Amino acid sequence: MTPAYSNGSVPAIPLTERPVLSLILPIYNEEAVIPTLLARLDTVVAQLTEENGFTETIFVNDGSRDASIQLLIEAAKSRPYMRVLNFSRNFGHQVAVTAGMNHASGQAVVLMDADLQDPPELLPQMIALWREGWEVVYAVRTQREGETAFKKLTASLFYRLLQRLTNVSIPADTGDFRLMDRKVVDALNSMGEHHRFLRGMAAWVGFKQKGLPYKRDARAAGETKYPFRKMWALAMDAVCAFSIAPLKMATRLGVSIACLSILYGIITIIRFLMSDGTFQPGWASIIVVLSLLSGVQLITLGIVGEYIGRIYDEVKGRPLYLISDKIGFDQPRVKQPEKELLPTTLRQNGD
Ligand code: UDP
Ligand code: MG
Repeated sequence: MTPAYSNGSVPAIPLTERPVLSLILPIYNEEAVIPTLLARLDTVVAQLTEENGFTETIFVNDGSRDASIQLLIEAAKSRPYMRVLNFSRNFGHQVAVTAGMNHASGQAVVLMDADLQDPPELLPQMIALWREGWEVVYAVRTQREGETAFKKLTASLFYRLLQRLTNVSIPADTGDFRLMDRKVVDALNSMGEHHRFLRGMAAWVGFKQKGLPYKRDARAAGETKYPFRKMWALAMDAVCAFSIAPLKMATRLGVSIACLSILYGIITIIRFLMSDGTFQPGWASIIVVLSLLSGVQLITLGIVGEYIGRIYDEVKGRPLYLISDKIGFDQPRVKQPEKELLPTTLRQNGD
């Protein structure tokens, strides 16, 4: 299937010649972590290739302003498993991962952070579950190291709120670290929405899903690239993409306040009729009601605006990302032996 959004044409590779695994690593100002990451990947990829078949890694440089891209280009020269996509600017983590999926040719695709918070050593367990027939294996964080109490609290509240608001069951405490079968990747590639909340989309597509508990390590080096501003934007995308509960809430709020106003009006009329002619409507109560109502109106307008803004972004139909360079995609692919390596469903579906 041709990806919904890609600016280069991805050649159709017969299934038997596809790499078995594609690891996708988004990179944004990660020069501090790249040497450690490559050292860990060299061992892990060699082991994966030996046990499963050819494993490729796709690094997506999301407009880093440090030396990340130079380090990646240099490293790719001696590593046939490396492919690099260089974005024309920073498009954001979710889009970077999407570009990786559009260009991945593996029969299973793994999304993982480049800062080694998602330990590559968990991959053999994920692959084992995939071989058992699970089509999505998502990692569930049982413990989070080296993250602020604020981040842990907001993340935990967010997942619980999201579960209440949406009708898609998005597993709590999962990030983007997950293995997905080709079928799932093709399904996600066909979804061209601009405001992407991948873990929600991955839940929405369905298929056979399995959680795998793990301990989330601290960042290997450098600082988080997800400040509060980006976390908030992701949370808004998640809520707006998977729920219209805020719009319904605005209606309910409007109706309740209208009812209260009518009640208040009736009370005022009764008080006026029962007074001895000296009744003075209170200045304070008018101001309170007026300011309360304008606040409520602005909030509801804002909620509607969040959705309209997203509709506007979709209608423009711009590409999700622009790539300035592609490195390593012409590397020879290793032909796969027809062994008992793949889940039966995949072999039957061979295209
Ligand atoms: N990242 C990216 N683009 C961005 C922000 C982050 O590609 O605009 C990458 C980053 O390099 C890392 C991953 O997304 O590989 C997760 O980011 P980070 O570890 O900073 O997030 P945290 O784990 O703190 O939530
Ligand atoms: Mg991280």
